[in-house]
Amino acid sequence: MPLPKGKKPGQHRDWGLLPIVMVCGLASFVYYGIVSQKPGHPNATQMKPFSILGESKWCDVCQLWKPDRTHHCRVCGACVLKMDHHCPWVNGCVGISNYRFYVQFLCYVTLLGTWIFTTSLAAFIQFNGLSTFDGIALSILIIGGIITFILGAFTMSHLWLILKNQTTIENSQFQKWKREKLSGNTRLIPMFTESGKNVFDRGYRQNWLEVMGSNRLLWFLPLMSKQGTDGVHFGHSSQTLKEYQDEDGSRRIKAQMSAK
Ligand SMILES: [Zn+2]
Ligand SMILES: [Zn+2]
Repeated sequence: MPLPKGKKPGQHRDWGLLPIVMVCGLASFVYYGIVSQKPGHPNATQMKPFSILGESKWCDVCQLWKPDRTHHCRVCGACVLKMDHHCPWVNGCVGISNYRFYVQFLCYVTLLGTWIFTTSLAAFIQFNGLSTFDGIALSILIIGGIITFILGAFTMSHLWLILKNQTTIENSQFQKWKREKLSGNTRLIPMFTESGKNVFDRGYRQNWLEVMGSNRLLWFLPLMSKQGTDGVHFGHSSQTLKEYQDEDGSRRIKAQMSAK
């Protein structure tokens, strides 16, 4: 990478300022979107909502029916549709209405960190940074590396969850269930079959489109935050659903027999 005219080694940190400004602008815009947008709450209705899993649950705190994949956030004191998690960094919940913005924010910041890290590292190697880098240039290199690897791994995990059609909460329940299963506990969890298949998993492509939408431009631009579902009705795999319902039926019969 050439050194800009009039710059000494170690003063590389203003290289490629334009992409940094652009990505910072996008990240700020999308961060504002996450914070200002409500995560999506269920309607306060006394009517039971549609549930493909068979049984809507009642929230005693909010006094409303929770559609499938809805969870009550104790910090916010509210139910959130397709709740992903409560995020202290945005001081609120990430749910059906702001999840796309959240993922885009993670991608922008990871891109920014990777750009800063790789250009800093290239300059460090090219100009023997140990003797030419000042404290600020070294700090930028280290912070860029931290963002690239730690936030990068976090971003990748969210992209993976989208492809698997699971939220952070659902995945942590699933991982806990897998650990318990190994130790002999056969407790079952909503939306997963006994063999660990997810009712909402329709394959990578459909799962991705459900969250990110069919307009490819909007995958990269923060112009619309809503997902491709209303938070009550979700796409599902008919085959897995049948397996789930069959298991659910036999579970109920067993529960009734053991109660007698
Ligand atoms: Zn609630
Ligand atoms: Zn919350």
